[in-house]
Amino acid sequence: MIKSSTIPQSYHLSKKNVQENYLPPISFEDLSDDEVINEIHQLKQELSSQVLILGHHYQQDDVIAFADDVGDSLQLARSAQKSKAANIIFCGVHFMAETADMLTSHTQKVMLPDLNAGCSMADMAQERHVERAWKEIAEAMDTVNSGKKIVPITYINCSAKLKAFVGKQGGAICTSSNAKKIIEWALEHGDKLFFFPDQHLGRNTCFELGISLEDMVVYDPNKFHGGLTEEQIKKAKVILWYGYCSVHQGFKIEQIQNLRSNEPDRKIIVHPECNFEVTQAADLRGSTSFIVSTLEAAKAGSKFAVGTEINLVNRLAKKFPSISIISLSPYQCLCTTMYRIRPRWLLNSLRSIKNETCENVITVDLETTKWSLLALDRMLELS
Ligand code: SF4
Repeated sequence: MIKSSTIPQSYHLSKKNVQENYLPPISFEDLSDDEVINEIHQLKQELSSQVLILGHHYQQDDVIAFADDVGDSLQLARSAQKSKAANIIFCGVHFMAETADMLTSHTQKVMLPDLNAGCSMADMAQERHVERAWKEIAEAMDTVNSGKKIVPITYINCSAKLKAFVGKQGGAICTSSNAKKIIEWALEHGDKLFFFPDQHLGRNTCFELGISLEDMVVYDPNKFHGGLTEEQIKKAKVILWYGYCSVHQGFKIEQIQNLRSNEPDRKIIVHPECNFEVTQAADLRGSTSFIVSTLEAAKAGSKFAVGTEINLVNRLAKKFPSISIISLSPYQCLCTTMYRIRPRWLLNSLRSIKNETCENVITVDLETTKWSLLALDRMLELS
């Protein structure tokens, strides 16, 4: 079966569309919240092994309550890969559902309850812009005559098309858990690293591997030639894409400074999508799984300020009442695109499975899948 990709328009919606798209499915207007919850319970029981519900850590509690598995994007992709369920409802964002679709058989369907749940970071790297940058970097390095090699690495938070691009060009995918290993491999196998879409994960990891900030430059797709001269491209060891996560970029060095002066005994732990200053000033830095396992292992009475998405921070605070867990930021660092998945949308997906109409199925074409899997397999071999 040939699958075709459905690209979310979340990043480009007009105000009118945003309002319309935030509305729950019309057929649920008359249902109270309790009725929605009861029907989800009923349908989940009825459909039983036909459906697997996956919930990303950043989802809200009322959605997580129905998840068969909860985790970060890689954990959930693996969970989808292992599952035999005919229908997988991915309560996360678009690129995660795409990855799950590529890792499952063509007889299984992966559904995203709300197609507008995209990722602003993933949307910052469009295929045609990355291809243009690749060409400009290759020209600056004169790869045809010099024999020099650029290795592309993409963070898993990107479209399937970009994963395929990386697969074709001999690169690999990484997650925040294995970025160090993958980047190390890339640096051993090429003269220059091209990393996208998250500049912060790239910079933080490369710095940890001993690369100085002077050896890294940022390619901004909105500027002519990425805002770089040929000389700057030639000289740099690492070229970072100008992309970022709007949630993690919300954590500021001033918040760390305030905490240090008010509560010096509170440890600060942050995600590597936070900026360089913040990750350097924190006590601990690491992926979502690292944050979860560190808090799990923490002694009773210890105190933490956490720099990651607020739904996860609040859930961890409830789960581990013997330790004091607060958000590093006094503002709500909320992933607004994850936030779009509400119980009503989940119910809509379950009803559509029952009615055999299966709405909002995410599919990736075979060619894209083939090249993306090559890049994913490289990652899995190296992890
Ligand atoms: S938290 Fe950031 S990177 Fe993760 S889905 Fe939301 S916008 Fe994308």
